[in-house]
Amino acid sequence: MTLGIILVLRPLQLFGVGAFGLLIPRLSSLFAFGWLFRIVSLLVIGCNDGVEELMPLVFFVNALWKLEITCSSAVFSLQITGMSWLCISTKSEAPVTKPKFENFIECLGNRTSPANPITDAIFIANNTTTFLSSYESYTKNKRFSSPNLKKLLAIVAAKHVSHVQATVVCAKSSGIQIRIRSGGHDNEGSSYMSSVPFVILDMHNLRSISVDLSSKKAWVEAGATLGELYVKINEASQTLAFPAGVCPTVGAGGHISGGGFGNLMRKFGVTVDHVIDAKLIDVNGKLLNRTTMGEDLFWAIRGGGSSFGVILSWKINLVEVPKILTVFRVNKTLEQGGTDVLYKWQLVANKFPDSLFITAWPRTVSGTKPGERTIAVVFYAQFLGPTDKLMEIMNNSFPELGLRREECHEMSWLNTTLFWANFPAGTPKSVLLDRPMTNSISFKSKSDFVKKPIPKEGLEKLWKTMFKFNNSVSLQFNPYGGVMDRIPATATAFPHRKGNLFKIQYSTMWLDANATESSLAMMKELFEVAEPYVSSNPREAFFNFRDIDIGSNPSGETNVGKAKIYGYKYFLGNLKRLMQVKAKYDPENFFKNEQSIPPVRVM
Ligand SMILES: Cc1cc2nc3c(=O)[nH]c(=O)nc-3n(C[C@H](O)[C@H](O)[C@H](O)COP(=O)(O)OP(=O)(O)OC[C@H]3O[C@@H](n4cnc5c(N)ncnc54)[C@H](O)[C@@H]3O)c2cc1C
Repeated sequence: MTLGIILVLRPLQLFGVGAFGLLIPRLSSLFAFGWLFRIVSLLVIGCNDGVEELMPLVFFVNALWKLEITCSSAVFSLQITGMSWLCISTKSEAPVTKPKFENFIECLGNRTSPANPITDAIFIANNTTTFLSSYESYTKNKRFSSPNLKKLLAIVAAKHVSHVQATVVCAKSSGIQIRIRSGGHDNEGSSYMSSVPFVILDMHNLRSISVDLSSKKAWVEAGATLGELYVKINEASQTLAFPAGVCPTVGAGGHISGGGFGNLMRKFGVTVDHVIDAKLIDVNGKLLNRTTMGEDLFWAIRGGGSSFGVILSWKINLVEVPKILTVFRVNKTLEQGGTDVLYKWQLVANKFPDSLFITAWPRTVSGTKPGERTIAVVFYAQFLGPTDKLMEIMNNSFPELGLRREECHEMSWLNTTLFWANFPAGTPKSVLLDRPMTNSISFKSKSDFVKKPIPKEGLEKLWKTMFKFNNSVSLQFNPYGGVMDRIPATATAFPHRKGNLFKIQYSTMWLDANATESSLAMMKELFEVAEPYVSSNPREAFFNFRDIDIGSNPSGETNVGKAKIYGYKYFLGNLKRLMQVKAKYDPENFFKNEQSIPPVRVM
């Protein structure tokens, strides 16, 4: 269409503008109307929910506006581009043609130096074992273990910062989407899947960690795992730690940027509360640090996810922990009064001293009789101190658990990380450095925040639904309170702070691919059953437990109305600032996925 207009108008331009006497005024009025409509839609409608109904009209006016620009360009040889990012929706990339991909590869070569050759880092997408193993090694959810070879073009497993820079710049100039992957634990595979042509920028090779004991700080690269970080910290000091998650293979890139939490959360907060600097590759391929990126971008990357650039490394503050901590793990089945004990837990867990974290994990287990099933509520705890002191707190505040001294185990902080990862006592710490390269488990997670205790009838409804699952299903009730009540919701982009009793993680796992549909349907049912008992308006969700069911966009397109649906759940009132930061630093929305932050300058 555009080409047609140009073909008609160019000769006219060459032969004089006389014939345009009739055309121009008409086009100009369309142009003016297009602008008027855009301004009204920006000022009055803003980018509010419900704007979708107006989309066809907006697109129609946009089309007229683009027609005008093309005609004006033909007449006056002006090139006017951009602006479409201002509001409403950003476009999908054009299909990637072979030459475009060739350009991408050529561009990578041109933008890197022979001193740090990129050739070894590129895996062209095909069915070879080399490629498939490069894809699968960091695809932690078996549900997504087959690459979409129609859309995935290559994996760039960067070995040098210049490879990251080149991938961003070349993908952008070639109209190819990128997905950034560090540890590959994303619940919905957002770091390695897309339904438009894309490349995976894999960070696992960039994994160095340096700890500075004198300042009690560390630099950790995105591709490092939490296990590697914990071991490195422990090599430097027995009394320093970092408040992050319990799974040692999770990557620092995704985990820290989403506001990762762990069992030190009530005492020290979440990962982003301890990030003091970062190295980021922005949309232009520039390497920025906290000073050069500015405070608003630095705020956004602490909890706002992968919408702003590629995290190369984080500078973190380490926290002081005692030499000896105490942990325990105690089960209460329904037959042992598990529901009553859990009810009491809801009343006390967020009020314990900050140094005590007791999490409750109701899960389906086999009963005492063959074929029978029950729920066992597993209480896992970590106390920053000795058993004596812990027993005193438990006897005073939570005697219903009936904790016995012999169920408590004193150990170093590093050994607690092995305990939480379910390694048997005595397992050498080197296991924390393992990077298993295959995965046989499919999983799905969801999350909720709870502000009022769930009544016993509510808990019983949850148990009843959990019994319907054929595969293993668990809930994790992670206590809030402590410092989480004292850090303002706006301090970082991670917003879930004061007012929460606990967070729920719903998880199910299965081995058989045929169980996928039924498992996903069951998770939806469980989530519906929980609805009356959890936060509402919005029903809050934890970004690190990504859940595509709470709202999403197609891979190559970001509709603001849709983005607000998941965005408010993940980021609450911080969404507005996140969208503005995005508009400032990535206005053309290059860093996007199904649940990314849209660029919105006007609210
Ligand atoms: C078994 C398991 C246990 C878990 N335990 C915990 C826990 O205890 N606490 C907790 O808070 N969470 C936990 N999680 C959730 C986990 O923190 C998130 O899934 C996290 O995003 C994983 O980070 P990753 O780098 O491993 O994943 P990836 O899949 O590589 O990345 C996840 C997201 O971050 C983006 N991303 C990754 N690297 C970068 C980068 N360098 N720059 C910019 N964006 C990037 C990706 O594009 C993707 O959107 C767990 C998940 C699993 C599967």
